[in-house]
Amino acid sequence: MSNVATKMIPFARPSVTDAEKQAVMRVLDSPILTHGPECKGFEEDFAAFIGEGTHALAVSSCMAALHLSYLHFRIGEGDEVIVPAQTHTATAHAVEWVGAKPVFVDCDPRTGNMTPEAIRAAVTSKTKAIGLVHYIGIPCDMPAIMQIAAEHGLKVIEDCALAVGARIDRTHVGMWGDAGCFSFYPVKHMTSGEGGMFITRHEDVAASVRYLRAFGVDRTHQERKVPGMYDVPRLGLNYRMSELQAALGRVQVARLPEFLKARAKNFSLLNKCLSGFEGIAVVDTTQAQLENSYYCLVMILGGPFKNKRDASIDFLKQNGVGTSIYYPQPVPRMSYYARKYGYAAERYAGAEAISDEGIALPVGPHLSDDDLNYLIEILNRWREEFAG
Ligand SMILES: *Cc1c(COP(=O)(O)O)cnc(C)c1O
Repeated sequence: MSNVATKMIPFARPSVTDAEKQAVMRVLDSPILTHGPECKGFEEDFAAFIGEGTHALAVSSCMAALHLSYLHFRIGEGDEVIVPAQTHTATAHAVEWVGAKPVFVDCDPRTGNMTPEAIRAAVTSKTKAIGLVHYIGIPCDMPAIMQIAAEHGLKVIEDCALAVGARIDRTHVGMWGDAGCFSFYPVKHMTSGEGGMFITRHEDVAASVRYLRAFGVDRTHQERKVPGMYDVPRLGLNYRMSELQAALGRVQVARLPEFLKARAKNFSLLNKCLSGFEGIAVVDTTQAQLENSYYCLVMILGGPFKNKRDASIDFLKQNGVGTSIYYPQPVPRMSYYARKYGYAAERYAGAEAISDEGIALPVGPHLSDDDLNYLIEILNRWREEFAG
């Protein structure tokens, strides 16, 4: 088959317009390149998007926000944190960096999320926190999880890296637990180049993390009576965001409703096409009050498509359709974790189904109507060739 694709649809592509470019240039023409008005404005705009009562702190990445969460709650040596096996490695790395032990829990392959029952079964006398993830924008069952946390006195850290826009009964994810961590890495829902946001509904947590984020110094530039004078009452890090990144992020957060609308529409079109495919299961929310933010469409190949994952990815690529895998391996199977804690495959059947039989399709705002029609045409051709 000599197949020269006339189109190339990437899995994801950041959407940067003149407005973003001008915002960054304005910062470069100003004397303040870090901890200035853009960061403050970005935090306010992001908090307004999330909803009332949100305290938001701009940080250098989602991983930084996660690390700050565990540092703030003084989780460390001898403690256990329940994390999903099906996630980005950052979710578990943050726990490792504070010296605590990540206890990996499998996901329900229908939603990609840990169920409340599975979390409950993993609680021990050493458990201090639940480090959950809203998989590809599908919210976890937070009311039930918060109930478990309350019963056992656990902190809840929400990894919302792929879940900006996801809500449950109108309350945004990240505002259910004690901390929410967002990512603005280029191919997420919105970008600041690199960057992240730490959010919390607790004022005291925000006040403390604000200092942890900047070396642990006790006053900001604005609060210094004598320029350059400050004290350091405790240990901290430099996880700040620059003004350049914040200016870019502010334009993107204003465009977020438009991005989310496009994602929902694109997901729905692809989902409708795939619903006629025997053996294909689409990972989605199973409860109406859970509002998905549609990062991508993950399909799990079964029936006639079983064991044809890699060949399918190749077919789609040859025909100009970019795909990805979210995530490529259950984290406990990654060699660092497997070496340290061992890997018992039978405990992670859900995560393995997604990692080993899943394909992530694009649904981002970079897809034109033409792209979508083309994508659907290629999916139908794929079905004919692989399941015919
Ligand atoms: C991408 C991602 C991260 C890492 O985000 P960074 O901003 O690159 O640190 C963390 N958790 C999840 C679930 C992710 O998808």
